[in-house]
Amino acid sequence: MTASSHLPSERQVTTVQGPLPYERLGITDAHNHVWIEFVPGADPGGPVLNQFNLILKELGAYRDKGGETLLDCQPGGCGRDGNKLLALSKASGVNLIACTGFHLKKYYPKEHWLWGAAAEKISDFLCSELEQGLLETKETPAPVRAGFIKIALESSWAGCFLAGLEGAAATALKTKALIEIHTEKGALAEKACLYFMDRGLSPDQLVFCHMDKRPEAGLHKELARLGVLLEYDTFYRPKYNPAAKLWPLIEQMVEAGYSDRIALATDMADAKLYHFIGSGAGLASLPGEIRDRLIKQGIPETARKQMLGGNIARRLAGKH
Ligand SMILES: [Zn+2]
Repeated sequence: MTASSHLPSERQVTTVQGPLPYERLGITDAHNHVWIEFVPGADPGGPVLNQFNLILKELGAYRDKGGETLLDCQPGGCGRDGNKLLALSKASGVNLIACTGFHLKKYYPKEHWLWGAAAEKISDFLCSELEQGLLETKETPAPVRAGFIKIALESSWAGCFLAGLEGAAATALKTKALIEIHTEKGALAEKACLYFMDRGLSPDQLVFCHMDKRPEAGLHKELARLGVLLEYDTFYRPKYNPAAKLWPLIEQMVEAGYSDRIALATDMADAKLYHFIGSGAGLASLPGEIRDRLIKQGIPETARKQMLGGNIARRLAGKH
């Protein structure tokens, strides 16, 4: 009998095709989007990614470059379709990990049930998507379970969906699930970190997204020291000047010994960033030119592997 057969279930990661040991995730994009339905009644400027064959081609290119796994960060109600995620994963051979939770309010119709729900009801719903299956897949022969919780902070604390934060905290406490937290350009990360720690979560259940839009190395090191994971994804967003901000930040964090607190991603909700839809860098850039540049910059192999998948994989499995 191999050691793995003794491992408790928390060492497995829930992909749309079922559980996988975290060691098998390989290169993993920690924050991306491979399917977003049009959402009637939501902000008409919201992203849409619904060209199945082109998305499949994009995932094929990702896999050909060595990418094996990708976290899809669109929760239900704002464009997620777990059935499409399952079909894309099967057809491409890329492990996809779906989420439950909630995104920014603007991506939903105003009357969506979430906004009037109490924390307890929200938590029950998130637990059911993690444990039984995503709402839109529950009646199918192969329900798809969520592998993590994704939530969003608005730009001010007063504007945040507090019942949702409370519900996500209760869910993560109960299920030990990882929470990926959208930040508006890094805002409120320190506040949210304390908020969730006060509610009994371990910092290593928290991933703060888009933190490189607020490239304050001192803040990043403080958060890293607490144990949270910081997700960086502005590689192809010229307005954030990645050459002057993101790349030096990666170097500084690695030099400070925090390569185990960084997760890299390309967050291509905007179809223009896709290679086969919008002639952008595409999903393949993470295992492709981003990985090449990390090598060229002399980032040690261990650190590269941590940032390109190792860190997020362990945390998805509840292993720290
Ligand atoms: Zn995103």
